[in-house]
Amino acid sequence: MKFKIHSCICLNIIYLVLFCEIHAEPKPPLKCNLTQKLKDEIKSYTPIVNRIIKSAVSGNSQGQTWKELANFVDTFGNRISGSQNLENAIDYMLNRSISYGLENVHGEPVEVPHWVRGNERATLLSPRIQKLNILGLGGSIGTPPEGITAPVIVVETFDELQEKANEAQGKIVVFAEKWEGYGKTVQYRQYAAVRGAKVGAVATLLRSIAPFSINSPHTGWQDYSDDVRKIPTAAITVEDAEMLLRMYRQGRSITINLYMEAKTLPPVQSRNTIAEIEGSKRPEQAVIVSGHLDSWDVGTGAMDDGGGAFISWYSLVLLKQLNLRPKRTIRAILWTGEEEGLIGAFQYAKVHDKKDFNLLMESDEGTFNPNGLYFSGKDSTACILQEIL
Ligand SMILES: [Zn+2]
Repeated sequence: MKFKIHSCICLNIIYLVLFCEIHAEPKPPLKCNLTQKLKDEIKSYTPIVNRIIKSAVSGNSQGQTWKELANFVDTFGNRISGSQNLENAIDYMLNRSISYGLENVHGEPVEVPHWVRGNERATLLSPRIQKLNILGLGGSIGTPPEGITAPVIVVETFDELQEKANEAQGKIVVFAEKWEGYGKTVQYRQYAAVRGAKVGAVATLLRSIAPFSINSPHTGWQDYSDDVRKIPTAAITVEDAEMLLRMYRQGRSITINLYMEAKTLPPVQSRNTIAEIEGSKRPEQAVIVSGHLDSWDVGTGAMDDGGGAFISWYSLVLLKQLNLRPKRTIRAILWTGEEEGLIGAFQYAKVHDKKDFNLLMESDEGTFNPNGLYFSGKDSTACILQEIL
């Protein structure tokens, strides 16, 4: 989640800051020099802010966002880009927005990839038979119909793979990388297939990008490189990755059969979902609250990113129900094609002038107790936020 502010102080900011998912990040203390006039203006919004908080926490809107989200995910389930399910979910949110009286409700076209998982499985054949739970990585190609049966090498780092480059030819390379936090470890998911193919591997498997698992693999998107042969790639569980690493270190010969039907179909026209409450004084200036509607195909996307999408979207419903009209336009954007690389957001940035955006918020780190604020922007704006909080 990121917050960006160019300039403004209004009810919008106060409201958004208090009601969006918040994430703490320690920063050096700010040197602020706000005018008394500005401080007074911020203070003058307190009664309205309190009214909004009361409605959300203990009033008519208490629990409503959760109910809306639960109904949504129960109705549509997973919403992977390219699927009819996602488009049905977008239609639903457009209609729901209209039914709540939100304004300028519309979809904006975005072309998204259409990757389909199909059936997939992996079996450890030696030193003993064991089913390995896998999830093919988004964008992966499939295997031939008989699957790929090959000996295995296991490495913990890209450097180690480089050292063992002459052993990798014709093998399945398993990455049993150490968990060092998502941001750092995710490179193994992004580049496993490319790095493996460069040294002649026939497929890659990697330890799920997660601190632990309960025999549950974790998927995500990966990209091939145009100059490197494409090979199938999938995530295995933390337990299996560690077991394979132990076996390999003990010098046992390991063989795996990998079967994947994954394929990429032609791109599909999808939509970013937009709804607004138009500003009373500066309607051309927008404060954006957002999350993504698309999800992976193997869950309901309640957390990733149903929670973020719904706390953003429902904030407009709440304002509408309280009959509050902000000075600037508040725009909810429910992105499409996020999981495949922020496709909806990039398309939106391409066709809209960002000088019209005063504040952009995106919540996509799970929806938990608010305990801080991550902000990216000018110090002068951070000072305003600090004063508000
Ligand atoms: Zn997400």
